[in-house]
Amino acid sequence: MNKGHIRNLDWAGLETEIRGMGQPPFRAKQVFQWVQQKGVSHWEEMTNVPKTIRDQLAVKYELAGLSVLKRDVSKLDGTVKYLLGLKDGETVETVLMAYEEQEGRDRKTVCVSTQVGCPLGCSFCATGKWGFIRNLEVNEILGQVLAVNQDLSRKGEAPVTNLVFMGMGEPLLNYDHLIKSLRILNHPDGLNISLRRISVSTSGIVPGIRRLAQEGMPLVLAVSLHAPNNELRDRLMPINRRYPLEELLDACYYWVSETNRRITFEYILLAGINDNLQQARELAELLKGLLANVNLIPYNGVAEAPFRQPSRNRITAFRRYLEEHGVTAVVREERGSDIAAACGQLRGQEMRGKDDYQI
Ligand code: SF4
Repeated sequence: MNKGHIRNLDWAGLETEIRGMGQPPFRAKQVFQWVQQKGVSHWEEMTNVPKTIRDQLAVKYELAGLSVLKRDVSKLDGTVKYLLGLKDGETVETVLMAYEEQEGRDRKTVCVSTQVGCPLGCSFCATGKWGFIRNLEVNEILGQVLAVNQDLSRKGEAPVTNLVFMGMGEPLLNYDHLIKSLRILNHPDGLNISLRRISVSTSGIVPGIRRLAQEGMPLVLAVSLHAPNNELRDRLMPINRRYPLEELLDACYYWVSETNRRITFEYILLAGINDNLQQARELAELLKGLLANVNLIPYNGVAEAPFRQPSRNRITAFRRYLEEHGVTAVVREERGSDIAAACGQLRGQEMRGKDDYQI
């Protein structure tokens, strides 16, 4: 029999399964906690669940977690990058970023992947270069967070507090698995991570943004913009030819009106490409009147890539122009630059078996 993975089941799915076995609902709660909160990989670890139930579940379901194939720690800022192995031999990247205290506890943010590879081929992105392999299953999305938690727990550290769906792949092209994973991560008997501490990043999948606005989820929507006009965005992000800026901005206004929540726009600053003051002016015009803020991310690729980071003066001038024209903007430094933490770089190195990378 081809087994499913028990971590693909949400609360209702597991309850139905346990009920179908003639067991009371509290058994579903126990199993759910072992699977989705503690992240166990072996049935016998479920010490308060009778063996008969474990045996029946084991006949139908897999329980194994993701294997940690590689773990690199940045000497610069402590960022940890994991290369995780999936059942079919594919690999996926997950990054842990530890920040200073927030609301009385350390903030630990995990950057989660949703696809193996990515079909969208953005010109500055290592993942896009490798093409699209497949969507991740729910257990593979959740397994990334659980793998990081287990690593933290081994070191006696507190678990993950925040999530950004900004790793490999386009989250809104794996929509159903994304939403199911979010509900499980937010469940009180799961990791109980507040949706307000979760960001979903999209390259601009317009139908996905509109659908997400209807989910009633108070999460943070981040839109990767990277260019203030269609001509440039078409070149940097081919998805713009499908959903041009006018349609994207319409969807963003829809998001704000439906959710009452601000949008974060990500803008990677590429020297000589999208970092002049004329482009800052276009960007300010584009976002005028929208409840939004801009994260400016100075490009931090490797030496062989055809892009460069702008000078500090240019970055400051760009940010200042936006601020002076009514757009809230902050400069965010990329983390873990010494460990190939940019999306797709580590997997790229593994596939090529060496340490360089070219866009
Ligand atoms: S930047 Fe994101 S959407 Fe674009 S190719 Fe890379 S993973 Fe895909």
